[in-house]
Amino acid sequence: MTENLIKLKPSELYEILAESNESPYRIRQIHKWIWGKSSNNINSFSDLPKGFREFMAKKYHIERAEISSVVHSVDGAIKFLIKFENLDQVEAVFIPEEGRNTVCVSSQVGCPLKCTFCATGSLGYRRNLGFFEILEQVRIVRDYVKTRITNVVFMGMGEPLLNYSEVVEAARILNDSSTFGVGSRKITISTSGIIPGIRKLENEPEQFKLAVSLNSAVQGKREKLMPVAKKFPLEELKKVLMEYYEKKRRWITFEYILIPEVNDSHEDLEALIDYTNAIPSKLNLIPYNPHPYATFRAPTDQEIEYFLKKLRRYIKRAVTLRKSKGQDIQGACGQLAYFVKSKE
Ligand code: SF4
Repeated sequence: MTENLIKLKPSELYEILAESNESPYRIRQIHKWIWGKSSNNINSFSDLPKGFREFMAKKYHIERAEISSVVHSVDGAIKFLIKFENLDQVEAVFIPEEGRNTVCVSSQVGCPLKCTFCATGSLGYRRNLGFFEILEQVRIVRDYVKTRITNVVFMGMGEPLLNYSEVVEAARILNDSSTFGVGSRKITISTSGIIPGIRKLENEPEQFKLAVSLNSAVQGKREKLMPVAKKFPLEELKKVLMEYYEKKRRWITFEYILIPEVNDSHEDLEALIDYTNAIPSKLNLIPYNPHPYATFRAPTDQEIEYFLKKLRRYIKRAVTLRKSKGQDIQGACGQLAYFVKSKE
């Protein structure tokens, strides 16, 4: 029985190379074939010495994830349902925009955090994805759309910082020019505010972008929307984000899903302005996308305009309105899971 080569971490490849008296730079050569060229044949890794290639081909094989379904949105977004070896499925979304091609990836099968506005939260949690399962999502999307992927966002199913080591391993490989070559500043790790994960991330040498899904700057309200806020309260989160900024000198991106009659009051607005003004940051305002697993409604254009105007007036830094792509295919922010559920 041979092992699946794509599951080997760089540290494991390093050991295999050392035992065969091969140089560590061959890790990048192997990654180039696996991730850069999507090769499934170890014998075709032509820049490896023939003897080593044959040795590897005897001990390892390559088995990939598969596409279960693909749905195209009228706005150009494409949603993929991807199936792994053990039949678990996750969603990944391709989002083409002027000057960039983004893949939104999942980091867990389901999610344990149960944010009330999120379809994934309603699925429950099954397991963490391995780094190779995260990379497979990007590879499958790239090979399907046949274009270079410029940005990757960890905003799909799951909380990336609860799967820290696999997410960071995947981000590092994505960043390597021999594989996908996505710039570290173009890789966004989005968290609901997992403080131990943020503290670890600030000590990584790479400049990955940190996004925090805020959704309310009022503690009690945030706890209702995102139960994880009880464990990691806003004030403590603010302190940690300030330290993160001091260390990395990188602005934080806050995401705020605007839900009418839930987090769009005058009090919400004031709290949001105070909170985000205290931290070097930019703010993305995302109108709530309805889905069958929550009863909230989408804001009207007037409600969005009113909130945005106030924010732009009082927030010191950039505020961007992000209308999610892929709403018609349930591929927009907060909607992932519908596809998986409807197939079960
Ligand atoms: S918003 Fe993110 S952290 Fe919250 S339940 Fe959904 S996937 Fe999990």
